[in-house]
Amino acid sequence: MVELRGVHKSFGSLHVLRGVDLDVGRGEVLVVLGPSGSGKSTLLRTINHLEKVDRGTVRVDGELLGYRRSGDRLYELREREILRRRTQIGFVFQNFNLFPHLTVRQNITEAPVHAQRRPRAEADALAVRLLERVGLADKADAYPGTLSGGQRQRVAIARALALEPKVLLFDEPTSALDPELVGEVLSVMKDLAGGGTTMIVVTHEIGFAREVADTVAFMDAGRVLELGPPAQVLDDPAHERTRAFLTKVL
Ligand code: ATP
Ligand code: MG
Repeated sequence: MVELRGVHKSFGSLHVLRGVDLDVGRGEVLVVLGPSGSGKSTLLRTINHLEKVDRGTVRVDGELLGYRRSGDRLYELREREILRRRTQIGFVFQNFNLFPHLTVRQNITEAPVHAQRRPRAEADALAVRLLERVGLADKADAYPGTLSGGQRQRVAIARALALEPKVLLFDEPTSALDPELVGEVLSVMKDLAGGGTTMIVVTHEIGFAREVADTVAFMDAGRVLELGPPAQVLDDPAHERTRAFLTKVL
Protein backbone atom coordinates (compact mmCIF):
# COMPACT_ATOMS: atom_id res chain seq x y z
CA MET A 1 0.00 0.00 0.00
CA VAL A 2 2.89 2.36 0.81
CA GLU A 3 6.26 1.86 -0.84
CA LEU A 4 9.35 4.03 -0.43
CA ARG A 5 12.46 3.46 -2.50
CA GLY A 6 15.74 5.24 -2.00
CA VAL A 7 14.12 8.36 -0.57
CA HIS A 8 16.43 11.31 0.06
CA LYS A 9 15.48 14.70 1.45
CA SER A 10 17.65 17.64 2.41
CA PHE A 11 16.85 21.02 3.89
CA GLY A 12 19.66 23.19 2.59
CA SER A 13 22.85 21.45 3.61
CA LEU A 14 21.05 19.26 6.16
CA HIS A 15 20.65 15.77 4.69
CA VAL A 16 17.62 14.56 6.67
CA LEU A 17 16.52 11.40 4.83
CA ARG A 18 19.44 9.38 3.53
CA GLY A 19 18.03 6.62 1.41
CA VAL A 20 14.89 5.23 3.02
CA ASP A 21 13.24 2.03 1.74
CA LEU A 22 9.99 0.91 3.34
CA ASP A 23 7.00 -1.25 2.47
CA VAL A 24 3.73 -1.25 4.33
CA GLY A 25 1.19 -3.75 3.06
CA ARG A 26 -2.56 -3.26 3.00
CA GLY A 27 -3.98 -3.51 6.51
CA GLU A 28 -0.56 -3.48 8.13
CA VAL A 29 0.67 -1.29 10.96
CA LEU A 30 4.20 0.09 10.89
CA VAL A 31 5.50 1.80 14.03
CA VAL A 32 8.45 4.14 13.54
CA LEU A 33 10.76 4.85 16.44
CA GLY A 34 13.91 6.90 16.65
CA PRO A 35 15.64 9.78 18.38
CA SER A 36 14.64 13.41 17.95
CA GLY A 37 15.87 14.77 14.64
CA SER A 38 16.29 11.37 13.02
CA GLY A 39 13.77 12.29 10.30
CA LYS A 40 10.55 10.60 11.43
CA SER A 41 8.23 13.56 10.83
CA THR A 42 9.95 14.36 7.56
CA LEU A 43 9.42 10.76 6.49
CA LEU A 44 5.67 10.99 7.15
CA ARG A 45 5.49 14.32 5.37
CA THR A 46 7.09 12.89 2.24
CA ILE A 47 4.41 10.19 2.17
CA ASN A 48 1.61 12.69 1.66
CA HIS A 49 3.80 15.02 -0.37
CA LEU A 50 3.87 17.82 2.19
CA GLU A 51 7.60 17.51 1.50
CA LYS A 52 8.87 16.80 -1.97
CA VAL A 53 11.59 14.17 -2.08
CA ASP A 54 14.91 15.07 -3.68
CA ARG A 55 15.61 11.56 -4.88
CA GLY A 56 13.76 8.24 -4.82
CA THR A 57 10.07 7.41 -5.06
CA VAL A 58 7.03 7.24 -2.82
CA ARG A 59 4.05 5.20 -3.97
CA VAL A 60 0.69 4.93 -2.27
CA ASP A 61 -1.53 2.17 -3.63
CA GLY A 62 0.70 2.01 -6.68
CA GLU A 63 0.43 5.72 -7.48
CA LEU A 64 3.45 7.99 -7.47
CA LEU A 65 2.10 10.66 -5.21
CA GLY A 66 3.21 13.92 -6.71
CA TYR A 67 3.94 12.75 -10.23
CA ARG A 68 2.54 11.33 -13.40
CA ARG A 69 4.58 9.02 -15.57
CA SER A 70 4.52 9.44 -19.31
CA GLY A 71 6.78 7.02 -21.14
CA ASP A 72 9.93 7.04 -19.05
CA ARG A 73 9.59 10.65 -17.92
CA LEU A 74 8.00 11.97 -14.74
CA TYR A 75 5.94 15.11 -14.66
CA GLU A 76 4.98 16.87 -11.48
CA LEU A 77 1.22 17.01 -10.98
CA ARG A 78 -0.75 20.20 -10.59
CA GLU A 79 -1.54 21.35 -7.08
CA ARG A 80 -5.22 20.37 -7.48
CA GLU A 81 -4.37 16.81 -8.36
CA ILE A 82 -1.85 16.61 -5.51
CA LEU A 83 -4.55 17.81 -3.11
CA ARG A 84 -6.95 15.19 -4.44
CA ARG A 85 -4.41 12.43 -3.94
CA ARG A 86 -3.49 13.78 -0.53
CA THR A 87 -7.07 13.25 0.65
CA GLN A 88 -6.37 9.53 0.25
CA ILE A 89 -3.90 9.79 3.09
CA GLY A 90 -5.10 10.70 6.58
CA PHE A 91 -2.74 12.60 8.85
CA VAL A 92 -3.09 12.85 12.62
CA PHE A 93 -0.78 15.38 14.23
CA GLN A 94 0.64 15.70 17.70
CA ASN A 95 -1.33 18.88 18.34
CA PHE A 96 -4.68 17.82 16.82
CA ASN A 97 -4.91 20.85 14.46
CA LEU A 98 -8.71 21.04 14.80
CA PHE A 99 -10.51 24.16 13.58
CA PRO A 100 -11.35 25.96 16.85
CA HIS A 101 -14.26 27.95 15.40
CA LEU A 102 -16.06 24.84 14.11
CA THR A 103 -17.97 22.25 16.12
CA VAL A 104 -16.78 18.67 16.29
CA ARG A 105 -19.30 17.67 13.61
CA GLN A 106 -18.25 20.56 11.36
CA ASN A 107 -14.58 19.67 11.81
CA ILE A 108 -15.34 16.17 10.55
CA THR A 109 -17.61 17.15 7.65
CA GLU A 110 -15.53 20.08 6.39
CA ALA A 111 -13.31 18.08 4.03
CA PRO A 112 -15.94 15.57 2.80
CA VAL A 113 -18.32 18.44 1.95
CA HIS A 114 -15.83 20.95 0.56
CA ALA A 115 -12.99 18.88 -0.83
CA GLN A 116 -14.93 15.78 -1.87
CA ARG A 117 -18.25 17.48 -2.62
CA ARG A 118 -20.26 14.92 -0.74
CA PRO A 119 -23.83 15.90 0.16
CA ARG A 120 -24.11 17.53 3.57
CA ALA A 121 -26.63 14.98 4.90
CA GLU A 122 -24.39 12.10 3.91
CA ALA A 123 -21.35 13.75 5.54
CA ASP A 124 -23.35 14.41 8.72
CA ALA A 125 -24.41 10.77 8.89
CA LEU A 126 -20.79 9.73 8.39
CA ALA A 127 -19.71 12.07 11.21
CA VAL A 128 -22.20 10.45 13.57
CA ARG A 129 -20.90 6.97 12.72
CA LEU A 130 -17.28 8.04 13.14
CA LEU A 131 -17.96 9.77 16.45
CA GLU A 132 -19.56 6.57 17.71
CA ARG A 133 -16.50 4.69 16.59
CA VAL A 134 -14.17 6.93 18.62
CA GLY A 135 -16.54 7.01 21.60
CA LEU A 136 -17.67 10.64 21.26
CA ALA A 137 -21.22 10.38 19.96
CA ASP A 138 -22.37 12.93 22.56
CA LYS A 139 -19.85 15.61 21.52
CA ALA A 140 -20.99 16.34 17.95
CA ASP A 141 -22.06 19.90 18.75
CA ALA A 142 -19.25 20.76 21.15
CA TYR A 143 -16.40 23.09 20.22
CA PRO A 144 -12.84 21.73 20.42
CA GLY A 145 -11.96 24.22 23.17
CA THR A 146 -14.38 22.49 25.55
CA LEU A 147 -12.85 19.03 25.07
CA SER A 148 -9.96 17.28 26.81
CA GLY A 149 -6.79 16.59 24.85
CA GLY A 150 -7.68 12.93 24.50
CA GLN A 151 -11.13 13.80 23.19
CA ARG A 152 -9.65 16.31 20.73
CA GLN A 153 -7.25 13.73 19.41
CA ARG A 154 -10.10 11.24 18.96
CA VAL A 155 -12.00 13.91 16.99
CA ALA A 156 -8.87 14.43 14.88
CA ILE A 157 -8.81 10.69 14.17
CA ALA A 158 -12.50 10.73 13.21
CA ARG A 159 -11.81 13.70 10.95
CA ALA A 160 -8.96 11.85 9.23
CA LEU A 161 -11.19 8.79 8.76
CA ALA A 162 -13.95 10.87 7.19
CA LEU A 163 -12.02 10.99 3.93
CA GLU A 164 -11.90 7.20 3.90
CA PRO A 165 -8.15 7.26 3.43
CA LYS A 166 -6.13 4.36 2.11
CA VAL A 167 -3.57 4.91 4.83
CA LEU A 168 -3.49 6.80 8.10
CA LEU A 169 -0.30 8.52 9.25
CA PHE A 170 0.15 9.43 12.92
CA ASP A 171 2.92 11.74 14.12
CA GLU A 172 3.34 11.26 17.87
CA PRO A 173 -0.42 11.33 18.43
CA THR A 174 -0.20 10.95 22.19
CA SER A 175 2.92 12.89 23.10
CA ALA A 176 1.05 16.16 23.82
CA LEU A 177 -1.41 14.42 26.14
CA ASP A 178 -1.49 14.14 29.89
CA PRO A 179 -0.51 10.57 30.78
CA GLU A 180 -4.01 9.60 31.92
CA LEU A 181 -5.43 10.51 28.48
CA VAL A 182 -2.97 8.49 26.42
CA GLY A 183 -4.81 5.20 26.85
CA GLU A 184 -8.11 6.32 25.33
CA VAL A 185 -6.36 7.45 22.13
CA LEU A 186 -4.21 4.34 21.86
CA SER A 187 -7.30 2.22 22.35
CA VAL A 188 -9.04 3.90 19.40
CA MET A 189 -5.91 3.35 17.31
CA LYS A 190 -5.81 -0.28 18.36
CA ASP A 191 -9.43 -0.73 17.22
CA LEU A 192 -8.59 0.81 13.85
CA ALA A 193 -5.63 -1.50 13.42
CA GLY A 194 -7.81 -4.47 14.34
CA GLY A 195 -10.33 -3.33 11.72
CA GLY A 196 -7.72 -3.52 8.98
CA THR A 197 -6.71 0.14 8.59
CA THR A 198 -3.25 0.59 7.06
CA MET A 199 -1.31 2.77 9.51
CA ILE A 200 2.13 4.30 9.92
CA VAL A 201 2.59 5.49 13.47
CA VAL A 202 5.48 7.53 14.82
CA THR A 203 5.32 6.98 18.56
CA HIS A 204 7.43 6.17 21.56
CA GLU A 205 4.65 4.10 23.09
CA ILE A 206 6.56 0.84 23.15
CA GLY A 207 3.61 -1.09 24.60
CA PHE A 208 1.49 -0.05 21.63
CA ALA A 209 4.26 -1.04 19.22
CA ARG A 210 4.61 -4.43 20.84
CA GLU A 211 0.90 -5.14 20.83
CA VAL A 212 -0.29 -3.58 17.57
CA ALA A 213 2.60 -3.23 15.11
CA ASP A 214 3.23 -5.77 12.40
CA THR A 215 6.59 -4.14 11.80
CA VAL A 216 8.76 -1.74 13.77
CA ALA A 217 11.29 0.54 12.10
CA PHE A 218 14.04 2.21 14.08
CA MET A 219 15.31 5.37 12.40
CA ASP A 220 18.63 6.93 13.10
CA ALA A 221 20.19 9.90 11.29
CA GLY A 222 17.89 9.65 8.27
CA ARG A 223 18.15 5.92 7.74
CA VAL A 224 16.08 2.92 8.74
CA LEU A 225 18.67 1.23 10.88
CA GLU A 226 16.51 -1.67 11.95
CA LEU A 227 13.30 -3.16 10.60
CA GLY A 228 11.37 -6.21 11.68
CA PRO A 229 8.62 -7.65 13.82
CA PRO A 230 8.25 -6.00 17.25
CA ALA A 231 9.70 -8.96 19.12
CA GLN A 232 12.87 -8.75 17.08
CA VAL A 233 13.42 -4.98 17.04
CA LEU A 234 12.25 -4.32 20.61
CA ASP A 235 13.56 -7.37 22.41
CA ASP A 236 16.53 -8.43 20.36
CA PRO A 237 17.81 -5.45 18.37
CA ALA A 238 20.79 -6.00 16.14
CA HIS A 239 22.27 -2.52 16.57
CA GLU A 240 23.80 -0.93 19.60
CA ARG A 241 22.07 2.38 18.78
CA THR A 242 18.65 0.74 18.84
CA ARG A 243 19.46 -0.81 22.19
CA ALA A 244 20.64 2.52 23.61
CA PHE A 245 17.48 4.26 22.39
CA LEU A 246 15.20 1.60 23.83
CA THR A 247 16.78 1.75 27.28
CA LYS A 248 16.02 5.50 27.25
CA VAL A 249 12.35 5.26 26.30
CA LEU A 250 11.38 2.11 28.18
P1 ATP B 1 11.29 14.66 16.70
O1 ATP B 1 11.37 13.33 17.41
O2 ATP B 1 11.96 15.73 17.50
O3 ATP B 1 9.93 15.02 16.24
P2 ATP B 1 11.96 13.86 13.98
O4 ATP B 1 12.64 12.53 13.94
O5 ATP B 1 10.52 13.92 13.66
O6 ATP B 1 12.26 14.52 15.41
P3 ATP B 1 12.25 15.72 11.81
O7 ATP B 1 11.21 16.66 12.28
O8 ATP B 1 11.93 14.86 10.66
O9 ATP B 1 12.79 14.81 13.00
O10 ATP B 1 13.52 16.59 11.52
C1 ATP B 1 14.76 16.04 11.06
C2 ATP B 1 15.74 17.18 10.89
O11 ATP B 1 15.30 18.01 9.81
C3 ATP B 1 15.87 18.09 12.09
O12 ATP B 1 17.21 18.45 12.22
C4 ATP B 1 15.02 19.29 11.73
O13 ATP B 1 15.48 20.45 12.36
C5 ATP B 1 15.17 19.36 10.23
N1 ATP B 1 14.00 19.92 9.54
C6 ATP B 1 12.75 19.39 9.51
N2 ATP B 1 11.92 20.13 8.76
C7 ATP B 1 12.65 21.17 8.30
C8 ATP B 1 12.37 22.29 7.45
N3 ATP B 1 11.15 22.49 6.93
N4 ATP B 1 13.37 23.16 7.20
C9 ATP B 1 14.61 22.95 7.71
N5 ATP B 1 14.95 21.92 8.50
C10 ATP B 1 13.99 21.03 8.80
MG1 MG C 1 8.84 14.61 14.66
